[in-house]
Amino acid sequence: MLISITLRNLEVEIGVPDTEATILSELNKFEYLSPPLKKNRLIPKSIANTKAIFDFPRLLNINIVASIIIVSIREIIMIKLDSFSSFFIANWKLHGNLNFIDEFLDKIQMPNDISKCIVVCPTSIYLDTLSQKKKKFFIGAQNVSQYEDGAYTGEISSNSLRDFKIDFCIVGHSERRQIFYEKNGEINLKSFQLIKDGIIPIVCVGETLEEKKQGRTNEVLENQLKESMSDSSNSSNTIIAYEPVWAIGTGLTPSYEEIESTHKFIRENNKKFNNFKILYGGSVKSSNSKEIVALPNVDGALIGGASINLDEFKKIIED
Ligand code: PEP
Repeated sequence: MLISITLRNLEVEIGVPDTEATILSELNKFEYLSPPLKKNRLIPKSIANTKAIFDFPRLLNINIVASIIIVSIREIIMIKLDSFSSFFIANWKLHGNLNFIDEFLDKIQMPNDISKCIVVCPTSIYLDTLSQKKKKFFIGAQNVSQYEDGAYTGEISSNSLRDFKIDFCIVGHSERRQIFYEKNGEINLKSFQLIKDGIIPIVCVGETLEEKKQGRTNEVLENQLKESMSDSSNSSNTIIAYEPVWAIGTGLTPSYEEIESTHKFIRENNKKFNNFKILYGGSVKSSNSKEIVALPNVDGALIGGASINLDEFKKIIED
């Protein structure tokens, strides 16, 4: 029998033996224990007289308590976003290998300022290697499956990311939207899966150059946010990244005023987003990162190209 309980917003299933036969087989496992204890409160009479230790209510309690602890730990270990004043997310895209990881670890000192949250997102195959070698920074994935489990060849579930202690995951990056035709609905489901598993989705939104020229930036962002944000998203479990598509990898950036006003628009567009961490991404480099991150409505940066240029990345995150 599976008992399903809902704890905060997480559903937990607890397995409980439901037939006399199951109980009997459980009892047999305990028969070697001594001294034998008999508990006949909930155990059928025929079984209660056997030399076995089987305390059904106790077992059930232990199961419930263990499940509560596991779920609570998952919630507790979800990174507390409010404890950081700024975020620097390094998106390595399809770059990097084992040598590069060693070079990165040799060369990059994490800032003394512990209010800066540094997250490094390598390709999936290197997540575990980096996670095992990392010091004082967090690991993020670049993508996740919208599905929890099943016949989906080539996918990686949020559950398995959690097993490898991955704390963040980029979703809806414009390269995934444009090259892999990812839609808002899928991004929404991916965010849902991540939040369920205690991983923080970094949801990317941004307009194309054409949309910008048509003066549709705010309309596009509003729609992307409405459709790609999971109902379970809130300011403690999700980050928003504003990444104008035309600024990614091009060396072009909006003016500081434009970045600030777009971030303000996102924050005020829906009261749900008032307290969200909102990062800027698109050609961030050492010569503009300080000014961008200092803008009142900018909480950090998502850095692509400059994150694999180690001299550049070092300058971006330094104190
Ligand atoms: C990115 O990949 O999210 C990004 C912002 O890239 P770049 O910094 O190279 O523009």
